[in-house]
Amino acid sequence: MFLKLLLIIICLLQAPLYASSSINQIFKNFIKNIDHPDRLTCNNTNTDFIIAAYQNIFEQNPTEEELINALSLLDESSDQLNLVTIKRSDLISILLAQKYDTDHLTKTILKKEIHLTEDFDFCQKSGFIPYLPLDQNLDEAEEKYSEDYIKKYQLDYAAHTADFNLYYGYMHAHTGFSDGEGTPEDAYTVGRDQAQLDFLAVTDHDISISIWPWSNKWKKSKSIADQFNKSGEFVAIRGFEWSSPIYGHINVLNSKHLINCITKPTVRSLYRWLGRQGEDVFARYNHPGRTEFLGWGNKLEFNQLRVYPPAIKFMVGIEVFNGRSGLRKYYYNTGYNGDRNFFDTANLNGWMIGAVGGQDNHNRSWGILNDFRVGVWAESLTRKGIINAYQERRTFVTEDKNASLSFKMNGAQMGSRLQPGTKNIEIVVMDTDQEIFTEINLYKNGDIIETITPTSNRETLTLETREGEYYHVIAKQADGNYLMSSPIWIK
Ligand SMILES: [Zn+2]
Ligand SMILES: [Zn+2]
Repeated sequence: MFLKLLLIIICLLQAPLYASSSINQIFKNFIKNIDHPDRLTCNNTNTDFIIAAYQNIFEQNPTEEELINALSLLDESSDQLNLVTIKRSDLISILLAQKYDTDHLTKTILKKEIHLTEDFDFCQKSGFIPYLPLDQNLDEAEEKYSEDYIKKYQLDYAAHTADFNLYYGYMHAHTGFSDGEGTPEDAYTVGRDQAQLDFLAVTDHDISISIWPWSNKWKKSKSIADQFNKSGEFVAIRGFEWSSPIYGHINVLNSKHLINCITKPTVRSLYRWLGRQGEDVFARYNHPGRTEFLGWGNKLEFNQLRVYPPAIKFMVGIEVFNGRSGLRKYYYNTGYNGDRNFFDTANLNGWMIGAVGGQDNHNRSWGILNDFRVGVWAESLTRKGIINAYQERRTFVTEDKNASLSFKMNGAQMGSRLQPGTKNIEIVVMDTDQEIFTEINLYKNGDIIETITPTSNRETLTLETREGEYYHVIAKQADGNYLMSSPIWIK
């Protein structure tokens, strides 16, 4: 009797495991048909396939953005840098997961025990005439907001005068959960133990984590980050890289929910979604200028950084280093129109954008690819402390892992928002290897207003500030390495 009960309990305990593996199997079997060569005969173009898929699952046509996104993602012939490609079945898995929540879909599959896709008619003719309306989007993006409306959403006055601690890390790295190598465990272990980072966020590509929701990559990436996160020792944060082939790549950090460039196909829809997430969610622009979309090049990327006021709070930074490229590529550039670089374009447009970067590792080089780091001025080495530092733009970028940069006005650290008036500037540059700093430039609204040849680690000056200005600092070392602060804004 007791033994029987025990057996029943054991069976019950194993049931969920058994169920989830058989769901995977069932789903894999029926979705395999989609990629089967015979299936391609009646829908031999990707366009027909995408339209039929949307009509079968949502009973409506895809929007133009959805169609173009899916087309780009299915285009395996493309040799675009860092473009994630997917199979037809991967697309179906995302669309099904979008229509049903995973539990519901699981139940449906188990109950019916049929191949869902056999109900689908991929031979149906759509009558949908796709066209490229992208110029229309650009017009929409050019919508001008009044200065008052932008100001309403800009961050409020804040003088960050606390004595902050300095920590190093970054929030852009990949693993085998998308197109990288290894696992998030490997990433956090190497980042923490070999590179001696204080914090790291693993941010795999949206699409790769979204396909096959039954494999639970999104859930797993959270539990792995939680497992490695130890206050006072190492901060691990989960994120994902929204990877639109049209509008560019944006890392979203610390969100509970996962979206992707199929469910949110425009940068606008991403901004709107961001605005509905919790207080602890934030995002940052990745490798600006790299998008290569058909004849458009990078002209649609991030809507050319035009401001969307309700998202100002959430977009905390833009990369001024990515992978092996530092400020030479990501700050000293001419942006989208051959004039302003990306960082200053964003800030002049009304965003409040800090300096960040990411090694964007796609192999097992987390933190050890090079010495590029993001330095943060934070209250503590905790998730809350690091996230707060990013949200308040108390971040600087350094190409030398031993170096640091502090930039204060009237005792308030970078990221502060101050009233206009006379300000005492204090710039402190340090390097534990005693490397020499050869030049410090102070910028106002993207233009150099003061060049200092430093004679000590601490330089001071006084200047008059006016409403609507922002100031930042770039320091250069004798070996050519750069350090760059986030701005201080004058409101
Ligand atoms: Zn990317
Ligand atoms: Zn990336």
